[in-house]
Amino acid sequence: MRWGSNDMDWRRDLMLWHPRLFLTTAEEPSRSFGYPHCERGWQDILVRLCRRIEVALRDGETFEFVRIKQKMGILLVDWDTEASKSTESAIGHAVDLAVARSACTCEICGAEGRLHANKGWLETRCAEHAAGDPVPPHLGQGFDNVRRLRRRRGQASVYYALTTATPTL
Ligand SMILES: [Zn+2]
Repeated sequence: MRWGSNDMDWRRDLMLWHPRLFLTTAEEPSRSFGYPHCERGWQDILVRLCRRIEVALRDGETFEFVRIKQKMGILLVDWDTEASKSTESAIGHAVDLAVARSACTCEICGAEGRLHANKGWLETRCAEHAAGDPVPPHLGQGFDNVRRLRRRRGQASVYYALTTATPTL
């Protein structure tokens, strides 16, 4: 058995803990759809998201993460499901919550953070890990305008805004 960095990979572990949510390529998990392309500070957000989705899913319903990544400083989640309207709604709510949490959680360490602009990149960071300048809330993708990409098989991509000002975290 080879002990390397792969054995410490929380992303791979997350995928293997939730085989119902991820289609994982055994040899190369990092090349699988849904492999989280973000730092460890958001691990807890993703763990909770996976649990919520598992709870929402009923027998015979399917779910798959298509893409999980950091974009514009916050979490971007693409997913695909074959489920009832109520399950879809519960999953959508769980994803919105995860995205909203990422907007105020340092991507590096998981502490409370806020959006910073660093050499043209947007990053959510705590004071310790911040580089660059804080972005005023009305310019950033904070709580007031969290965008979520919802992609369904065979349909065009749909963007819409979450307008909840104070999500329950
Ligand atoms: Zn931090």
